[in-house]
Amino acid sequence: QKGQIRVQTENIFPIIKKFLYSDHEIFLRELVSNAVDATQKIKTLSSIGEAKGELGELRIDVVLDPKEKTLSIIDRGVGMTAEEVDKYLNQVAFSGAEEFLTKYKDANIIGHFGLGFYSGFMVSSKVEVFTKSFREDAKGVYWSCDGSPEFELYEIDKADRGTRIVLHINEDSEEFLDGYRIRRILEKFCKFLPVAIYFKDESTKADDKEAKEEEESPINNTNPIWVKKPSELTNEDYQNFYRELYPAGETPLFWIHLNVDYPFNLTGILYFPKIKQSYEIQKDKIQLYSNQVFVTDEVKDIVPEFLMLLHGVIDSPDIPLNVSRSYLQGDPNVKKINAHITKKVADKLDEIFRNDRKSFEEKWESLGLFVKYGMMTDDKFLDKANKFLVMEDAADGVFYTLEEYKTAADTLQKNKEGKSVIIYTTDPVQQDAYIKAAQGKGYKVVKLETMVDAAFINNMEMKWDSVHFVRVDSDIADNLVDKQEHTDMVLSKEEEEKLKGLFGFKVSDLNLNVEVKGLSPDTPPVIATRPEFMRRMKDMAGMGGGM
Ligand code: ADP
Ligand code: MG
Repeated sequence: QKGQIRVQTENIFPIIKKFLYSDHEIFLRELVSNAVDATQKIKTLSSIGEAKGELGELRIDVVLDPKEKTLSIIDRGVGMTAEEVDKYLNQVAFSGAEEFLTKYKDANIIGHFGLGFYSGFMVSSKVEVFTKSFREDAKGVYWSCDGSPEFELYEIDKADRGTRIVLHINEDSEEFLDGYRIRRILEKFCKFLPVAIYFKDESTKADDKEAKEEEESPINNTNPIWVKKPSELTNEDYQNFYRELYPAGETPLFWIHLNVDYPFNLTGILYFPKIKQSYEIQKDKIQLYSNQVFVTDEVKDIVPEFLMLLHGVIDSPDIPLNVSRSYLQGDPNVKKINAHITKKVADKLDEIFRNDRKSFEEKWESLGLFVKYGMMTDDKFLDKANKFLVMEDAADGVFYTLEEYKTAADTLQKNKEGKSVIIYTTDPVQQDAYIKAAQGKGYKVVKLETMVDAAFINNMEMKWDSVHFVRVDSDIADNLVDKQEHTDMVLSKEEEEKLKGLFGFKVSDLNLNVEVKGLSPDTPPVIATRPEFMRRMKDMAGMGGGM
């Protein structure tokens, strides 16, 4: 037998209410998005002559009336005829946005699924719609529903074109009768929507000047710079926008303007923040938008992990509004976007490196963290970064790329296996005596002293097979390049006892090699070294995973 699954409408509302969005505040994003869509549609229709007459001021008003327990969303968009109300609101999951998109190819429409409107029922005991279509001689229409499958629909007198949605906030949702809360929600989700949105709280006292002023300016910036062309923007624009996103933030080092329309749509601006050695936890996150609607700041999977410390915005209509973690992981567009961002970042770094090496080196303290972490975790990035990774000479502040280091160190620092030996210091002050000794032999010692370096060194030794890293204090200078097999203590019993008295421990316990130099003006009297592998074992054990 074949047949059709029947859906019992009485059962569907409770399910929608409960499961449509786990986050109830989303209803406001959905209803304001619909108001934006309706406004964008009237603009499109007017521009092609299908809508006649003056459009008037295209704005959206969100009005809270705590006394009446209502929240209204009012637009001057296309409105709906009675047939349209019946088609779009009385049929669950029939998306008029989708239909409009196929007909007019207007890429700036937010809706797609035909469920957003129902999210209003998550917080309302009753939803009322007052609407009038832009069509000539359209009549006003009233629709209301209390969350049961029954609705009311009849003609009314309505003066203006557009739609007013009135939510009667239910008892469980009275948090949404708080003006402060509504403003915060609007600022979170609607901050960059393309139509001006005003919020008014009817309970604001008439003499509250500040609040009144606030109500007079839109809560959103309708024209955020990421939707503009990079050629139209100045450095100042980028910096101002950064401050708009993160009012407390320091000036970013530089930024990347993403602008792709094939094979997926992606715009956005990624800022490289200054990162201090101490590396505080970053609270400013990358924000993800879909057609200027805020979606989330959980951008894992979309942004490569090593770039999670960047700041800024990414906007892609190809990322649906109702993203869930499991969705993102499996989505092919997300993978492509991730790869694209990696490539863009690598290209930008390469560009700065080639065009303005000095400024690149000045920023290295911040950049090094991203670059090294990226090289460890992403082979495509590694390929590009091999050319612009730099290491700073501990003596004179010269920066070498890997190739430059090899050339500068030349034959002097090739070990028996023919590998280039990179001699590094993790602490130029404490290891000063060793550095001097190595330099005395003509060796180049570079600083690898940041928090990622221990892991970086281990990782690169595997990835760059022509290179071997040796810490400057891992042996006496004579042995740094061509390490002899681990030599046993060269101390006599007597010397050992003496040192034990000095330091309070037995030298052999710490796996140190100790060379007693005797007294001379330019060498330290004793040099204690520890073999590279022993030290690394200890570093690894103490690292505790992660970055
Ligand atoms: P979607 O936005 O995904 O299409 P919704 O459930 O949010 O689905 O809305 C369903 C449809 O109802 C919309 O596509 C639109 O045709 C219509 N609609 C909803 N709100 C408005 C509005 N404020 N003005 C005009 N039409 C609207
Ligand atoms: Mg919608």
